[in-house]
Amino acid sequence: MTRLHNFCAGPAAMPTAVLERAREEMLDYRGQGLSVMEMSHRSPTFEAIAAQAERDLRDLLAIPDNYRVLFMQGGATLQFACVPLNLLGPGGTPNYLDTGIWSAKAIKEANHLAGAHIAGSTQGNGYVHVPRPDEIALSTDAAYLHYCHNETIGGLAYDYVPEVDVPLVCDMSSSILSAPLDVSRYGVIYAGAQKNIGPAGITVVIVRDDLLERALPQTPSLLGWKVYADNDSMINTPPTYAWYLAGLVFQWLKQDVGGLAEMEAINRRKCEALYAAIDASDFYANPIDPTNRSIMNVPFTLADEALNSTFLEEAESEGLLNLKGHRSVGGMRASLYNAVSEADVQALTTFMRDFERRRG
Ligand code: PMP
Repeated sequence: MTRLHNFCAGPAAMPTAVLERAREEMLDYRGQGLSVMEMSHRSPTFEAIAAQAERDLRDLLAIPDNYRVLFMQGGATLQFACVPLNLLGPGGTPNYLDTGIWSAKAIKEANHLAGAHIAGSTQGNGYVHVPRPDEIALSTDAAYLHYCHNETIGGLAYDYVPEVDVPLVCDMSSSILSAPLDVSRYGVIYAGAQKNIGPAGITVVIVRDDLLERALPQTPSLLGWKVYADNDSMINTPPTYAWYLAGLVFQWLKQDVGGLAEMEAINRRKCEALYAAIDASDFYANPIDPTNRSIMNVPFTLADEALNSTFLEEAESEGLLNLKGHRSVGGMRASLYNAVSEADVQALTTFMRDFERRRG
């Protein structure tokens, strides 16, 4: 068996130890005589799996007691609609920061319900940095401020938490669990699972409990956060196997990695090694202002774009997978999520130097 170096932006690499554990437990989960995916979600065994996953996530992120953790479906994209549906009940204008493709998608969805106010945007400079705190201007009747902590396609991340006197709502799909986080600064945090949490199919929403009463009356039940909070996220059949695997990832982070501070240290070493390789050469380039470079997603271009497909073909033959940039921007992108190891990154930087020597 060979596991190659997987730099996919999502669904992303899973920790091998998690997949091994899932394999061991696949046919007969701990003497129950059946697989987790064959169990009733209302069985005591699955309820225990679900509750343990929540406890472990709470431990990892030190989530305060006045926050609810919801496990939903529909990905982060469905949360683009859930955010205004669940927060605009008392009225007001949804406020958004615009830093690239994913925040733009969230804004588009809010505009279906109410005109969004753009409280800050760095579109004018090609999204090479995020709005600075003094460039954020909320509308007078702001209902909340939404931003995307890490723009997965642009490779752009906030180096600070905006301070505002309305609920702060954050799309953390591609950065959650990459480093410790002060949840108390936020009203709502949400993330699709398929990067640092587990396989695709489950979405984590962390919401301060006083914000559960603000849904628009027409909110469909399955899009209402309060319904999930009141029903332990089991209003209908949840994606049980994805939930179980997310739980295994949380245990891996706690036990094998040693927590999020340790995970952050590893992640920083990984991205620094790759940015250093890019910056050391005129052959590779990354356009992002160094203070806002993502630790998870590193886009880069080749000086000679005509070499793009050769680069990708040769990388793949060396076992370096999924380095093609997002279809909307081209170039290359290496996603360095938690399950990508320092050895994976070293294999990439070695290949890059070698490729430059041969083709540069
Ligand atoms: N937000 C961000 C920052 C993302 O990276 C993604 C997916 N790549 C999404 C939202 C959309 O997530 P999903 O595909 O789970 O709907």
